[in-house]
Amino acid sequence: MSRKKLENYIAGRWVASDREFDKRSPFDGSLLATVCEATEEMVDEAVTEGREISIGSRSGSWGSMPMRDRLAVINGFADRLMTRADDLIEAEVADTGRSYWQSRTFDGARAVGLFKAYAGAGANMENRSMRFSGGMGFEGMWYTTRRPKGVIACICPWNMPLLMASMKVAPALVMGNAAILKPSEETPSSATILAEIVACSDIPDGAFSLLHGFGPGSTGGHLTAHPGVDAICFTGESATGSSIMKAAATGLREVSLELGGKNAAVIFQDVVMDRVIEGMTRSAFFNCGQICFCTERAYVHRARFDEFVDRISTVAGEIIIGDRNHNGFSIGPLISTGHRDKVKSLLDTVANDGGEFVAGGGIPEFGDARDSGAFIQPSVAIGLAETAQFVKKEAFGPVLHIAPFDHEDEAVALANDTEFGLSTCIWTENLSRAHRVAARIRVGHAWINAWQIRDLLSPLSGAGISGVGEQGGRLSLEFCSLPQTVTARIHPEDA
Ligand code: NAD
Repeated sequence: MSRKKLENYIAGRWVASDREFDKRSPFDGSLLATVCEATEEMVDEAVTEGREISIGSRSGSWGSMPMRDRLAVINGFADRLMTRADDLIEAEVADTGRSYWQSRTFDGARAVGLFKAYAGAGANMENRSMRFSGGMGFEGMWYTTRRPKGVIACICPWNMPLLMASMKVAPALVMGNAAILKPSEETPSSATILAEIVACSDIPDGAFSLLHGFGPGSTGGHLTAHPGVDAICFTGESATGSSIMKAAATGLREVSLELGGKNAAVIFQDVVMDRVIEGMTRSAFFNCGQICFCTERAYVHRARFDEFVDRISTVAGEIIIGDRNHNGFSIGPLISTGHRDKVKSLLDTVANDGGEFVAGGGIPEFGDARDSGAFIQPSVAIGLAETAQFVKKEAFGPVLHIAPFDHEDEAVALANDTEFGLSTCIWTENLSRAHRVAARIRVGHAWINAWQIRDLLSPLSGAGISGVGEQGGRLSLEFCSLPQTVTARIHPEDA
């Protein structure tokens, strides 16, 4: 992608700013784009216009349109999205450094699918009603409809930029809200293309705005502090989630927070090891470990410990790194050299804390432009105490620590020994044990003999510091709407 200037899109207008920042490629450090940071005034304009079109007094506007008419507009938008799939993939590959194969498989098609799936789910959001007789001889009838909440701030991380944006913007629009998208400062490009597609679609001005910028003291901070924002849908770090919850307390605005994880896999003695290695390779290293569900801790029954360590470390050492044209599983760089330094400093604690690497542990050298990128080796460590930083802190990189266990209770206790509670993988051929253990691990999502096979409309939640509220499918549509009950008295004597 050639270098561009990326502007904000506010209520149907492209808006530049005096404050610009650089977006650099994590692949080789080259300058990809200059990005216009949205000011407080721009945030205010997007919120004001958004409120008017979603819950303002203008009749026939986006928020008061019949659901089926709105869904027709959203389906039309999804069709246009499909026609820009190549541009979206190019943008994701450039901003994140991932391979074309990965982006083709996981980004473009899934984003279109999300808008279509939410439009389908919206069509099935039935309204409830009941005839009743109350005390004192009254008769009546009530019905409940779901009204738009108003302005939904959609604040996204950088790991799956297009997918995260679609997961938030689609349900907000379906329910008649105005969606204000704040992509990560690390990944502004696909969000800008999304706005270009909105601009050519029948989505009315103001129902979608795009604001670029950073967090505190910048766009994200202005947005979460704005009293006209009715709800905040956020995915990112647990510490950021906590700050956003504090900001939302003023005005009692609702939040839905999908946060970090330090996910464990539990591997029992009866597993088919080939399946485990295939699944664990993806769960530890896919997207260079930058998926919230990635596994960073593996607990393996002592009877299979050496075999697992041997095989996963061999695979980790053979993973192709930094080939964007590779047609299969490979890894790209981390999102930035800043994030790479953070992951590297966690790798550097391993030796001091008494552990050892059986694969990776450092930064790869290429002898070309990629040495200016943000690469790190897939890294597997053993021998650390459960209290070690490498075992406790989320790395959000391609790292795995492996420890043995002897009994099921011990494995469950080890998996649960974390302040996070996002996901787990349970590997066993014993079905009773699989379901028994799934119920005992305190996480929002447990996979059995699998990782990240997920219907995008299925509920997404996290225990502990991994989340507040739920997203996904009907739950997102409910979060993005307000149930309103209308009760009418019925007089039996009226002719
Ligand atoms: P981050 O929290 O640093 O940033 C996320 C977004 O919030 C960015 O757009 C950023 O600009 C904005 N932001 C930062 N501080 C803010 C503030 N105080 N107010 C308002 N906005 C603010 O997260 P990240 O580094 O982009 O993403 C990585 C994290 O996301 C990891 O912890 C990962 O586990 C988590 N994640 C969770 C899920 C999930 O579904 N649970 C999915 C993907 C990523």
